[in-house]
Amino acid sequence: MKFGGTSVGSVKSILSLKEIVETEAGRGPVVVVVSALNGITDKLIATSEMAKNGDSHYRDEFEAMVNRHHQMIDAIIQDDKKRVDLFNSVDQLFDQLRSIYYGVFLIHDLSEKTQDAIVSYGERLSSHIVAAMIKNGMRMNARDFIRTENKEGKHVLDTELTNKLVKEAFASFRTKATNASKTVAVVPGFIARDRDSHETTNLGRGGSDYTAAIIAAALDAEILEIWTDVDGFMTADPKVIKSAYTINELSYVEAMELCNFGAKVIYPPTIYPVCIKNIPIKVKNTFNPEHPGTLIKDKIEDDNKPIKGISSIKGTTLITVTGLSMVGVIGVNRRIFTTLADRGISVFMVSQASSENSTSIGVRDEDAEAAAEVLNAEFAKEIETGAMYPMQVESGLATIAIVGENMKQTPGIAGKLFGTLGRSGISVIACAQGASETNISFVVDGRFLRKSLNVLHDSFFLSEYKVLNIFICGIGTVGGMLLEQIRTQQQFLMQSRRLKLNVVGISDVDNFVLDRDGIDLDNYEQILRAGFAANTEHMRDEIVKMNIFNSVFVDCTASRQIATLYQTFLEHNISVVAANKIAASSDYDSYLKLKQTARDRGVWFRYETNVGAGLPIIGTINDLCNSGDKILKIEAILSGTLNFIFNEIAADVPFSETVRRAKEQRYSEPDPRIDLSGTDVIRKLVILTREAGYKVEQDDVEKHLFVPDSYFQGSIDDFWAKLPELDADFEARRKVLEAENKRWRFVATMEADENDPSIFKTSVALKEVPYGHPFYGLEGSNNIVLLTTERYKEYPMLIQGYGAGAAVTAAGVFANIMSIANI
Ligand code: ADP
Ligand code: ASP
Ligand code: MG
Repeated sequence: MKFGGTSVGSVKSILSLKEIVETEAGRGPVVVVVSALNGITDKLIATSEMAKNGDSHYRDEFEAMVNRHHQMIDAIIQDDKKRVDLFNSVDQLFDQLRSIYYGVFLIHDLSEKTQDAIVSYGERLSSHIVAAMIKNGMRMNARDFIRTENKEGKHVLDTELTNKLVKEAFASFRTKATNASKTVAVVPGFIARDRDSHETTNLGRGGSDYTAAIIAAALDAEILEIWTDVDGFMTADPKVIKSAYTINELSYVEAMELCNFGAKVIYPPTIYPVCIKNIPIKVKNTFNPEHPGTLIKDKIEDDNKPIKGISSIKGTTLITVTGLSMVGVIGVNRRIFTTLADRGISVFMVSQASSENSTSIGVRDEDAEAAAEVLNAEFAKEIETGAMYPMQVESGLATIAIVGENMKQTPGIAGKLFGTLGRSGISVIACAQGASETNISFVVDGRFLRKSLNVLHDSFFLSEYKVLNIFICGIGTVGGMLLEQIRTQQQFLMQSRRLKLNVVGISDVDNFVLDRDGIDLDNYEQILRAGFAANTEHMRDEIVKMNIFNSVFVDCTASRQIATLYQTFLEHNISVVAANKIAASSDYDSYLKLKQTARDRGVWFRYETNVGAGLPIIGTINDLCNSGDKILKIEAILSGTLNFIFNEIAADVPFSETVRRAKEQRYSEPDPRIDLSGTDVIRKLVILTREAGYKVEQDDVEKHLFVPDSYFQGSIDDFWAKLPELDADFEARRKVLEAENKRWRFVATMEADENDPSIFKTSVALKEVPYGHPFYGLEGSNNIVLLTTERYKEYPMLIQGYGAGAAVTAAGVFANIMSIANI
């Protein structure tokens, strides 16, 4: 049973360890391997650096470490005698360590040997504490039996000698154990001794896992348990992927691949010794011992998941060896790999084009400089003659691996992988897939690592739910309602549709706030007030910088400035849903460019609510055109505001009053002149005409208005003041109309020439509609659209319903968002 740093790092966890171990010890002999208290190894290194640099503050850091251990002992050992004994042995170690640090401080020198001696104290201390705490615990000295040898300046395990020594040490432990009823051996992990010089060494950072595996293998243990701070081996690093979850079973091969590519939960060399002995590994959580954890073994029950997990290595450098002389030349690869091996540099990824004139190899950033240097030296002659180029070195990259043994039976995995990355705007710099097909690994720009992991986790259905990340701009009538609708639907969508709507950004005219973990919608107004001051460019840059996967920008403003951001967002693979009509009705070329960019990037630009709020008008026109129909005529009442006004107007309700009511009841735009001037209807007609496949600009639309032009100049206050002057004239005309049993309707029309549909005309006009016409009875603020097409000719298609209002518009925006989620 190996317990990691966090498992021995706090009073709570170490008491849990005690219970876990003592329960197990009741069933049979147990060997416990412990790490240093979490963070101590890092602290020992950092403090030694301070001492070396002559910084006397190292003493404070040192005493803080002493305190931490003392406090731990005080809290967990009740028995006075035991506690005093333990303090003695721990303080003895600290005294030695204090002298070593002082030496480093005085002579300003920190050799590797000294550093190795210093870091060994972490595990030595923790093993003393655990041995004293556990009933029948007996500490064993790992340096007596874990032996390393020096190869190319690196400490590597002397397997044969170690095996022999472990067996011997534990044979005598068993004798002692039976004699003195000591059943639990406690071993410090990580540390070792050089077989020749007998100096203290170690197995590398994270090496306690390895210590445990070596002992398990040598003693033919029944099982190796790795106790850590997560519920087992997970589909991805839970610190990066919030929705990662525990894998029940993994094969040794799968676990090895995932660990080699950075799954830190198990130190990579750990698996091999137990794998060849066919000893299963169980990964368990000290903080949640009831959780079954992960079982790693030879053959696993066939679950049909093609991909089991994803892991990654951050600091990757790609070194590319290129040159024409490489084509068909035998031995270039041999020279590359021998050269690197001689220098002790390990290569974790290789990709070679079949033309053979370039080989790319992935190494860790810290090895990059040395790797380039030795390769340049090796190929110096070829480089000089120009047959080869100097090594091309690209740093700041990350390597990602997707792993699963079932991959080989499942076609299309690579296709899905690259398709998913492409749609998210992530380019793959190099890739490799072994013929064993348990792993596809590839290199991306380091800045795209988090995003890559997220989209892949999502698309391979490793996640229990799909995530859509949403930015909402504007929290007025529509935006506020939309947030409310999302808030109430979140739970349902998560449970029934496996979709998580994650609102990662909210903005209004004063502030904006971004949070990739999702903003709490119960509290968003307060959170927003604490956000950044509103600034369009700043917001745009921050959103782009977030580089978050599967994201959509939702514009619920009427702002021209916000509409200018769409192009940038689409170019960065962020879909756009606009309730704002400005972009779709702007000049034709910009409109086309937005659509084209969305198409090129594999994202969406949607604006269904630009016309008829929640009514399915744009979508219907798109569907008709896509299936080969031709729109010949559009006749529509597209202004809920104007329809409301002309329905409200009556003998006792003058025109000016109807405008006021429209504004009060939030049917009109914040500035009602946008409605009265026909601008709003013109925008909508332009959008519909364009969707129907015609190229039109706002200026092309003929206008027949009912409020004189002078009313649209000057301030909004002037406008309200002057408006009643129109009342008398309206009342006179209204009386005539009433007598003729007609009604005013503000109608938008697009009409194509029957014989030559490329010729068409658009207009908006206040029309007098007779009784019996479909437009006559249109109630309240409703909208209506009549579509005459080649297929709907004699009886046009009719779409009718609420054309304004917060709830239906927000629902229309919501529907657009859902269409992007594509569940
Ligand atoms: P310990 O101190 O117990 O050895 P480590 O910090 O070395 O613990 O390893 C556990 C950590 O590994 C987890 O807290 C988690 O953040 C990280 N990790 C990375 N990838 C994975 C993965 N695929 N499954 C589980 N944990 C992972
Ligand atoms: N304490 C060592 C480290 O932090 C070894 C380990 O925890 O496994 O690297
Ligand atoms: Mg570890």
